[in-house]
Amino acid sequence: MGFRRDHLTAPIFKWASSIMPPISETEREAIDAGTVWWDGALFTGNPDWNELLALQKAELSTEEQAFMDGPVRNLCAMVDDWTLNWRDRDLAKSVWDFMRREKFFGMIIPKKYGGLGFSNYAHSEVVRTISSASVVAGVTVMVPNSLGPGELLMHFGTEEQRDYWLPRLADGREIPCFGLTSPHAGSDAAAMTDTGMVEYGTWKGRKTLGIRLNFHKRYITLGPIATVMGLAFKMRDPENHLGRGEDLGITVALLPTDMPGVSHGERHIPLFTFFQNGPLYGKDVFVPLDRILGGEKQIGQGWTMLMTALAAGRSISLPSQSAASAAMCARASGAYARIRTQFNVPIGFFEGVQQPLAELAGNTYLIDAARRLTLAALDRGHRPSVLSAIMKYHATERMRRSMTHAMDIHGGKGIIEGPSNYLAPGYRSVPIGITVEGANILTRNLMIFGQGAIRSHPFMLKELLALSDEDKARGLDAFDDAFWKHLAHAVKNAGRAFIRGWSGGLVGPAPGGAAMPRYWKRLSRHAAAFALTADLALLTLGGALKRKEMLSARLGDILAELYLLGAVLKRFEDEGRQAEDRPIVDYLMREGESRIAIAFRGVLDNLPARWAAWLVRLVAFPFGVPDPVPSDRLTTRVAEILMKPSAQRERLTPDLYLGDGHAEHPIKELEEAFRLVIEAAPVEKKMREARVRDPQAAIEKGIISDKEREFLRKAEEAAEKVIAVDAFPMEDISAVAAQHRQPKPARGRRRQEQAAE
Ligand SMILES: Cc1cc2nc3c(=O)[nH]c(=O)nc-3n(C[C@H](O)[C@H](O)[C@H](O)COP(=O)(O)OP(=O)(O)OC[C@H]3O[C@@H](n4cnc5c(N)ncnc54)[C@H](O)[C@@H]3O)c2cc1C
Repeated sequence: MGFRRDHLTAPIFKWASSIMPPISETEREAIDAGTVWWDGALFTGNPDWNELLALQKAELSTEEQAFMDGPVRNLCAMVDDWTLNWRDRDLAKSVWDFMRREKFFGMIIPKKYGGLGFSNYAHSEVVRTISSASVVAGVTVMVPNSLGPGELLMHFGTEEQRDYWLPRLADGREIPCFGLTSPHAGSDAAAMTDTGMVEYGTWKGRKTLGIRLNFHKRYITLGPIATVMGLAFKMRDPENHLGRGEDLGITVALLPTDMPGVSHGERHIPLFTFFQNGPLYGKDVFVPLDRILGGEKQIGQGWTMLMTALAAGRSISLPSQSAASAAMCARASGAYARIRTQFNVPIGFFEGVQQPLAELAGNTYLIDAARRLTLAALDRGHRPSVLSAIMKYHATERMRRSMTHAMDIHGGKGIIEGPSNYLAPGYRSVPIGITVEGANILTRNLMIFGQGAIRSHPFMLKELLALSDEDKARGLDAFDDAFWKHLAHAVKNAGRAFIRGWSGGLVGPAPGGAAMPRYWKRLSRHAAAFALTADLALLTLGGALKRKEMLSARLGDILAELYLLGAVLKRFEDEGRQAEDRPIVDYLMREGESRIAIAFRGVLDNLPARWAAWLVRLVAFPFGVPDPVPSDRLTTRVAEILMKPSAQRERLTPDLYLGDGHAEHPIKELEEAFRLVIEAAPVEKKMREARVRDPQAAIEKGIISDKEREFLRKAEEAAEKVIAVDAFPMEDISAVAAQHRQPKPARGRRRQEQAAE
């Protein structure tokens, strides 16, 4: 051992130290946040699929189901995105009151503090259903329950802070917001210039050691109406009052927004989606040290706190909203494509429309499969930060594609604004989901693989920590242990990739007794090839891989597809292998493998060490990277699922708000027209076969009965309503324009200066 360490490991240790930059403090904190779960299994190259299947699927308790059936349905019936965006610019007061009363803001707060104490799955289901009714209501409920004061207090608050704040947050007496982003610190949030100086000031008439805060936060959801803010700032102690040096690091404080020096109330307008969002400014705000979240022991721990909360939060809010949006787009587009005719044919019968329809169905199935799997893991205590980044990115990206497809299928109907447009509010809000909680380009290029390679890889973190150990002898010992294990693992994995690759994916593990073993085996093949490629990329590029974002992104794409496709196969098993869902699973597996192929080819074509790329090709893809795209026939079969009412359509798009409770609602009208058009289809068929277009003539010729004529009439009337778009009298548009003074925006610091005057 001593010989190996001194003569073999030591030179490698020296070389590796030169190509691996030391881990920065913020990186280390991000890496430490959350846990490793199935991502770790995928990184081994040999995941045990039985373990994935054994994870019990997430389910609602009786109480949670009652909440979904009662308050959630009622809330959906109370909101109307058209009125609130175009007239009120806010949720109605009755809606705010209802949300408070029914504790929508306290879903994740434990019962002992007066909250609802819901599971992560229930929380997600609530957000999903509300988001299907209204983006604004969805965001409003989502934010207090995700990353913010409530979540942070539960994990890090002192007992006193929890006892005071949590009951008040649970029943909506306090409305929270979370202030991290500032003008020069968006994606690079740690670069914030907001400061908190430790100094003596006057608090309740007494000289007190505290913090003098100066900040400018922007884009803060609920900021304009929030009564308490979780504020992230850089804490400094130039006079060393606390005896810990000058720079104390990012810290979070709980700040009532009515304190002297705090200014808020201005609103941003996020793409005409009028949830409350705006800047907050603070000028020389003085608070005692006990306002620090978690007390003095949490000074400087702000970044860790945020990363820990994000590790779970990213798996819930945006994936739930995306699931709602994708399902709504699929359901509505299928119905519309069946109702809307052009060239005397329902547009959904054209192959060109079937292609996006199939993707809509596929996205819906996949996002929900991955969402439910991740929530089942969260409810068992996992906090998988890498998987949460995968969920955030892929759910919102697929949602974005679904929205675009839905728009294309609806044509002008989707474009013309008005109360009968059920797509526009969701469409407008797409970039919001893409940007928040880690903007997507950054998440794909920097986080998924970048973080995964360190965090989820079986040996990488141990090696990096050994390399950056200040005690070089101890570092060498630890490196010696990890490196040789890593090498043995890599050789074994290359063997696996070889067998699975050369057998064309026919040899490889599949879970015992699972349906469609060939798909599991193909995933096993890709997992081994991924682990081999990842190891070689890390070996040949070292720390430079961080700057090779395009390569990192593609490796992340492969890792993500392995997770998402595993979730699809698991969902199929969890739902009792519904035979009618097989086309969707076939479609998704082929489409997913095709994405994997694109990513692999991108990596292998661009890996700077050409020998490494050829080695992977030789070992894992001797006959080229398999790229099985869905056939046209399969695509049509999947599209058709959305164009007829069935139990399968319901299972694919469950628990959406379909307008019940509103006297008039465009989705309700769409559903009704869809039902009637399907009912009238056999009548239309008879007429088409007899080549008679006029229903009256068809009655006279005895082709259809009076009753069938009535079916037709009702269907035509209902379809007419759906096809109609809104037009506004010129005077109304002018009158509205005249009433609304053009708001005078104030930009950035100018407001902060005004606040101070
Ligand atoms: C409607 C809305 C609500 C929000 N709510 C809140 C809130 O409640 N609290 C809060 O604190 N913040 C909130 N935010 C802020 C949000 O988290 C930030 O907008 C986000 O972090 C991105 O910062 P930015 O907009 O400044 O974009 P930038 O950081 O300027 O990024 C611009 C682009 O560059 C890309 N990019 C940046 N760095 C890299 C890199 N290294 N590699 C590759 N690509 C990169 C990004 O992905 C993005 O596409 C909200 C934002 C919006 C729009």
